[in-house]
Amino acid sequence: MSSLVFSVLFVGFLVVTLIVRFWLGSRHIRHVLAHRGAVPAEFAEKIPLYAHQKAADYTVARTKLSLVTLLVNAAVLVGFTLLGGLQWLSVALFNLTGPGMLHQLALLAAFAAISGLVDLPFDYYRQFVLEARFGFNKMTLGLFISDMVKNTLVGIIVGLPLIWVILSLMDKAGSLWWFYAWLVWSGFQLLMLVLYPTVIAPLFNKFTPLQDESLRSRIENLMQRVGFASKGLFVMDGSKRSAHGNAYFSGFGAAKRIVFFDTLLARLGPQEIEAVLAHELGHFKLKHIIKRIAVMFGVSLGLLALLGYLKTQAWFYTGLGVDPMLLTSNDAMALVLFMLALPVFTFLLSPLTSITSRKHEFEADAFAAKHTNAQDLVSALVKLYEDNASTLTPDPLHSAFYDSHPPASIRIHHLLGSR
Ligand SMILES: [Zn+2]
Repeated sequence: MSSLVFSVLFVGFLVVTLIVRFWLGSRHIRHVLAHRGAVPAEFAEKIPLYAHQKAADYTVARTKLSLVTLLVNAAVLVGFTLLGGLQWLSVALFNLTGPGMLHQLALLAAFAAISGLVDLPFDYYRQFVLEARFGFNKMTLGLFISDMVKNTLVGIIVGLPLIWVILSLMDKAGSLWWFYAWLVWSGFQLLMLVLYPTVIAPLFNKFTPLQDESLRSRIENLMQRVGFASKGLFVMDGSKRSAHGNAYFSGFGAAKRIVFFDTLLARLGPQEIEAVLAHELGHFKLKHIIKRIAVMFGVSLGLLALLGYLKTQAWFYTGLGVDPMLLTSNDAMALVLFMLALPVFTFLLSPLTSITSRKHEFEADAFAAKHTNAQDLVSALVKLYEDNASTLTPDPLHSAFYDSHPPASIRIHHLLGSR
């Protein structure tokens, strides 16, 4: 391929992606506003009008913000690539460090720092203006800053050794480097499944064993019924950052644990909590989690093989505004270009991942209905949608591209139909 053809393809896909995303966003806003006036009939008794309108306004505000970030990110992407930003950065760092690993690491670090700085005002605005306006922000500025510092430190401690190993493989392991890198990457992912819940998450939140005796025995009873062994039930102080509620699972094998946000426990009754947990256990028992991990490993093998090919093609670099320098090592540049270009070429495929994840959600809902009570899950979902101000009337196409979960009305329809 010539580098000009690749540049044209890149710009073409970028423009198409931007047009599609703006079109989806504006459809979504129009659809939500058109349904703002009245609560959908099937929720009329369960959700008050003011909550429905708050959800509409919150959704519109978030969608507008996402369109602004989209434009800024596209401008930054073009600045990094076709306008020569990465090339300039690489040369400037090269003059400081000389050739070799230090130059590679410096390029990745500088890229990460610049990207982080670009995101910072948007993160700040989202938390302290948008979330605050709707009463969801519980975070102080001090916590925001300490989170940022901790995230950076964790990123360095965990990411630096990994990236060093991968860059070394790219440089020295020959033409099959991508396969060895895949083994390292997969091992790293598995390690993180164990380290994240036990070491990293506790740096950010407090996890205390679930105290409530009657809730405990209710949950243990459920776990016994469906045949699930867990290392523990924990409550997380999610309320120190946000009023949004959630429950999740983490870890695997013997390290599995169930985590409830304190905000969720405060809001739902015991039967509703049981139903929500049954849904999560459904994901586990129906092997959704294992399947997701297997797909992730398969996809990353394919992508690394693709990167293995692209790394040696001059057009991949010059087409994105960078000097290939194929005779010296330019591996960090190949990584950065790949990370930047990939989403441009894959966005249009995103409904495919949504389809699978929706299928899994329906299956987990059915599992919960079978082992607990569909009615309890419905009332829990209604409360969660209301508390999170999730819109009940998303634009169907926007939803197909962006939502991992089916719209509330469809989920509830299925649940009540499956009784
Ligand atoms: Zn689910």
